[in-house]
Amino acid sequence: MLETLRRQSTADYQRADAAHHLHPFTDYKSLKAEGSRVMVRGEGVWLWDFDGKKYLDGMAGLWCSQIGHGRREIADAVHRQMCELEFYNTFFKTTHPGAVELAEQLAMMTPEGLNHVFFTGSGSEANDTVYRLVRHYWALMGRPEKKVIIGRRLGYHGSTVAASAMGGMGGMHTQGGMLPDVHHIEPPYWFDLGGDMSKEEFGKKAAIWLAEAIAEIGEENVAAFIAEPIQGAGGVIIPPDTYWPEVKKILAGKDILFVADEVISGFGRTGEWFASDHYGLKPDLMPIAKGLSSGYLPIGGVMVSDKVADVVAEGGEFFHGFTYSAHPASCAAALANLKIMREERVVERVKEDIGPYLQERWRALGEHPLVGEARMLGLVGALELVPAKPGRSERFANTGEVGTLCRDISFGNGLIMRAVRDGMIIAPPLVISHDEVDQLVALARKTLDDTLAELRRRGLMG
Ligand SMILES: *Cc1c(COP(=O)(O)O)cnc(C)c1O
Repeated sequence: MLETLRRQSTADYQRADAAHHLHPFTDYKSLKAEGSRVMVRGEGVWLWDFDGKKYLDGMAGLWCSQIGHGRREIADAVHRQMCELEFYNTFFKTTHPGAVELAEQLAMMTPEGLNHVFFTGSGSEANDTVYRLVRHYWALMGRPEKKVIIGRRLGYHGSTVAASAMGGMGGMHTQGGMLPDVHHIEPPYWFDLGGDMSKEEFGKKAAIWLAEAIAEIGEENVAAFIAEPIQGAGGVIIPPDTYWPEVKKILAGKDILFVADEVISGFGRTGEWFASDHYGLKPDLMPIAKGLSSGYLPIGGVMVSDKVADVVAEGGEFFHGFTYSAHPASCAAALANLKIMREERVVERVKEDIGPYLQERWRALGEHPLVGEARMLGLVGALELVPAKPGRSERFANTGEVGTLCRDISFGNGLIMRAVRDGMIIAPPLVISHDEVDQLVALARKTLDDTLAELRRRGLMG
């Protein structure tokens, strides 16, 4: 008999959690030692744990929660759908109204030419679909030797084997291996790689790395270039303004598919519906997820251009799909989310109002003695922590130690920021208010002060 699962305390949960729950992206030893945080409730930009401690969710769940937590309208829409048709598949020539409606809306709202969607349950599945689709496309075009996919170091495209292979996270490649025919170039990460160059010069140079890789591999062997318009999990790497125009020039007229992974940058994060709109990109394929449903239910997809879809349409059966592709309840959640985003002008507000408001205050944190650079576009930003100022040449010795310390201090202060190496990143819900931005920035400043004091105590400041 399973004993009753009523827990009396956070420690009860932590014990059972450590015993039975293998978490994603978690060091199990330290989870066991420190225990998990037990979240129980969310409303707007706020979360509460089991002990009633309140947190400002600076990471929008995990880059998802555009409209904030706890919106009743989504729960109601999902409830209605579940009462009517909780599930049916979309394999073998079947559809349902929610899938049709969502596909049509996505075709209308995404950049020109992207008029088709292949639904998935997640961003990883979307990128797995990309991997198969680009190769299938080139095979159908009679060019099966075009196999190589070029990605970027520190890129993140998900955790399935194909998605992580196209991504550039070394740790993921070491655990379980890599796929052949994937090549990585360096990212447009000026703070880390820019040396003495201006941002503008460096942006062009980083684009040229793509041209060099194509020349080295041979255009006749390259299937696609995949990139996040802004690298999210890699540390909110916002490319210099010269990068994307130069990349566009390099890809123009080349027989190489361009995949813009908009799983984070889509649905208003940059102040446009898609970062491709912000940068004027014309992707052939565009994976989406996260903000599509604001995380209320899992759903993702690949937006597919007419160019690719027309070829695939003539190619016989596409042997690919997920049981939960276009899950009715997830479609209902996404439709309700998009409705709220349109009605409340969430994206326009990021561009014209709350984005600039937070950006100005966030950049001011760059003056803090611990901060080497404060950057932000739309409502996604990063702080690079450094042992001495000015300049980008000095780093803490044990990469990640200071970031983790700062992250833990931030949680203690009631602000959820994520650490990447020795940087802190945020991507708050897009509906954050001015007052909540003020609170976020005050908590971030306190966190920096507390971290600095602790580092001085440990003798780690230069
Ligand atoms: C999160 C993420 C993914 C993977 O999405 P999952 O839903 O976690 O599978 C893919 N690409 C990017 C850019 C992401 O940030």
